[in-house]
Amino acid sequence: MKPKIIVHGGARRSGNNESERKTDVINACKTGYEALLEKDAVEAVEIAIRNLEASEYLNAGVGSYLQLDGRVRMDASIMKDDLSAGAVIGIEDVEHPISVARRVMETTQHVILSGPLATDFAHSEGFPRFDPRTKPKINLWMEIMDEFRQKTTYEQIFHVDKYLKEGSLNLGTVGCVAMDANGNIAAGTSTGGLKMNVPGRVGDSGIIGAGTYCSKFGGASCTGHGEKILILCLAKKVLNYLKHKRAGNAMDATKYGVEELNSLQAPGGIICIDQEGNIGYAHNTAMMTMHYIE
Ligand code: ASP
Repeated sequence: MKPKIIVHGGARRSGNNESERKTDVINACKTGYEALLEKDAVEAVEIAIRNLEASEYLNAGVGSYLQLDGRVRMDASIMKDDLSAGAVIGIEDVEHPISVARRVMETTQHVILSGPLATDFAHSEGFPRFDPRTKPKINLWMEIMDEFRQKTTYEQIFHVDKYLKEGSLNLGTVGCVAMDANGNIAAGTSTGGLKMNVPGRVGDSGIIGAGTYCSKFGGASCTGHGEKILILCLAKKVLNYLKHKRAGNAMDATKYGVEELNSLQAPGGIICIDQEGNIGYAHNTAMMTMHYIE
C-alpha cells in the first residue's frame, strides 16, 4: 500500500495570514509523510498534528484563541482503525494536546479525560508545563474585551450563536488522517475552540464520533461549527456512508457530510481517507487550509 496523508488547518470564511497558514499546513503534511515512510499511521498523525499545534497561525496548541476569561483550554482527539481512541477536553498548560490524547488512548482504561484533571494527568505523565498564549492572541482578546465591555453585558455574550450571527466565528482547528504502508489508518483533531469560547463549552474536536472517527472503513477529521458537528456526529456519519456503501469513496463521503452541515446552515469542512486509500475533502466555507500527499 502506498502511504498517504491529508492535513487541514481549519475551515474559515475569510482570514489574514492565509499564506503563513498554508506554509505551516504543507510543512506539517510533509513531516507527517516522512514519518509514514518509517512508522505507522498513528505516529504520523501525532507528528503532523504536533507540527500544526506549534504554528502560531493555527488555532490549536500554540496560538490557540483565548477563551472569554483569558485562559486557553484546548481539546484534542485521536483514533485508530482498530477502534482504540483517546481524547482530552479543556486541557491547559501543555504544548501538545494531541500527544496527551494519544497517552490517554495508550495508557489508560478511558477514552476522554476533561478539565483540570486532564491537565493534571498530562503533567503527571511528564508533559512539561507550557503556556500556549501568544502576544497576538492576547492582544486580540484584550481588544475584543474592550469592545464587549462597551457594548455588551457579560451575560449577553454567553451565547455562541451571537458570534455566528455577527460573522465573527473564527475557525482554525487542525486535523490529520493518514494511511501507512500496511494499510493501517489513523485520524486526529486538535483545537483551541472558538474565539472567545465560553469556559466550559465543549465543541466537537475532543469528541470521538463528532470531530474525529476512524474504523476499518477509513478515518475522518472535521472542522467548523462544533455544536452542529456534535449534533450530526459528523465524523462517524461520514464513515457510515462508506460502511453502508452510500458513498463509493472518501471524496463522495465528505461531500455528503458537507450536505449535512448545509442542512443546519453550519460552516465547516471534513477530510477523509477510505480503506482503499482514496483521499477526500470537502467544505462549505470560502476556504479550508489543507494539503495531502499520496
Ligand atoms: N470545531 C471547532 C470547535 O467548535 C472549531 C473549528 O473547527 O475551528 O471547537
